[in-house]
Amino acid sequence: MAENFLLPLTGSFAQPAAENPTVAMIEAAFRHYDLDWRYINCEVVPEGLGDAVKGARAMGWRGFNCSIPHKVAIIDHLDGLGESAEIIGAVNTIVARDGKLIGENTDGKGFVKALSDVTDPSGKTVMLFGAGGAGRAVGVELALAGAAKILVVNRSRNRGEAVASLIAGRTPAKAEYHPWDQTVSVPSDVEIVVHATSQGLYPNVDQMPDIDPDSLTSDKVVADGIHNPPKTRFLKAADANGCTIVDGLSMLVGQGVIGLEYWTGIEADPEVMRQALADLDL
Ligand code: NDP
Repeated sequence: MAENFLLPLTGSFAQPAAENPTVAMIEAAFRHYDLDWRYINCEVVPEGLGDAVKGARAMGWRGFNCSIPHKVAIIDHLDGLGESAEIIGAVNTIVARDGKLIGENTDGKGFVKALSDVTDPSGKTVMLFGAGGAGRAVGVELALAGAAKILVVNRSRNRGEAVASLIAGRTPAKAEYHPWDQTVSVPSDVEIVVHATSQGLYPNVDQMPDIDPDSLTSDKVVADGIHNPPKTRFLKAADANGCTIVDGLSMLVGQGVIGLEYWTGIEADPEVMRQALADLDL
């Protein structure tokens, strides 16, 4: 057979783009599965987003990721949205399906995938710290995965209440807002604790969210969305108490696995992607 020099393209549109390790993770999976595909990491300014999407369409890209600051603005340039992306109101993965560009959100799906290695959220009570983009996505996906009740704890009341009412209004789960103006103690009936604020993210690695570490009892599953560093101060405290922990690197890997499956149909081994990230020594 003649050589095929036309390679399927994927990539990412974000600003900044240089520090995003997703390209390393996805290309490692392409190599592992002998896929001669490419993932092109592009820095795209907000004013250039529409042209970038038009370019991807014109060049027949199979799909792409988008990140800060494009996750909401990109919706205007797409042909449709997946169920959770529509509820969350933000997109981070675009998939070309039957000539249409469909927006999905894998932020929360990646988290639920990582969590499912240690527990099934179905019927569980969750305490979710943070109601930004990550908290919103994780809260909605946990609810769609069957969590019974989600307590949303957030510093700013308006964002926290918005996420709680979104979950209560658009999913079968119960949800309540809980203020965060002093140290929060996790109630004993909470089974899963998720930290989804940016406290502890590199370079602020000494930051610790104001959560009573003694309330993180060993029966709880405790997860942190921060992937750099993978073991935050918060996660170290939970680990020391004997909790089952899930780190943000697993969430990032879970997103990669889902994105790759959307684009190529291959269900990748998460270990291949995790190893690619570990090799970067983040
Ligand atoms: P946003 O800026 O949208 O939201 C930030 C959140 O952190 C808000 O809830 C904000 O509360 C809270 N917050 C920030 N500083 C403080 C503080 N000092 N005290 C209390 N709360 C604070 O960011 P994202 O939601 O997009 O990202 C949050 C984290 O999740 C980041 O660390 C990011 O790296 C991580 N993330 C990880 C992913 C992964 O795959 N592992 C995917 C996506 C995100 P308020 O509303 O009061 O401002």
